[in-house]
Amino acid sequence: MTTTLMKEAKRWPGSEWIKNHPALLERSYAWTKRGVKVLYPFLKRISPVATERLMIWAEKTSKGYLFNCQMCGQCILHSTGMTCPMNCPKNLRNGPCGGVRANGNCEVIPEMKCVWVQAWERSRAMPIDGNDILDLQAPLNRQLQNSSAWINMFEGIDQQHPTGWIPLSELEK
Ligand code: SF4
Repeated sequence: MTTTLMKEAKRWPGSEWIKNHPALLERSYAWTKRGVKVLYPFLKRISPVATERLMIWAEKTSKGYLFNCQMCGQCILHSTGMTCPMNCPKNLRNGPCGGVRANGNCEVIPEMKCVWVQAWERSRAMPIDGNDILDLQAPLNRQLQNSSAWINMFEGIDQQHPTGWIPLSELEK
């Protein structure tokens, strides 16, 4: 499997079928997260540099195949119906723009179904994290582009939001 990122609207063979079974994917995600979380501290102790390289390679390969991952470094797949929001040509992370076509396709790439139409439909088939799609996502930190989203999550780097940004969960307290 090549690690080259594919352009929006391109999909690897078989990956759409897998994404259309999001309940299975969300369970695999939970298991993988648990496994990597246990392994990560040991790997990091041996070699942080090699661990980072390994994680980036693993994410590019696996998420590249499955989700056409664009390596944003702040993965929110479980909040977006296991559909990568960075495949939206406008990189929208909080729902669709106003240009969704009547057939549910993208206004920028007419032959592609709107990422957010797919995200919503798939989220309805996710018993664990399906309702996370209703959460408001923080602004994207572009400085994390091409870094490992797994490492950023374990290190809490993906939770360092711009000054002034207060998550809804905090406001509701
Ligand atoms: S949200 Fe970011 S890290 Fe997750 S699949 Fe999409 S580009 Fe990759």
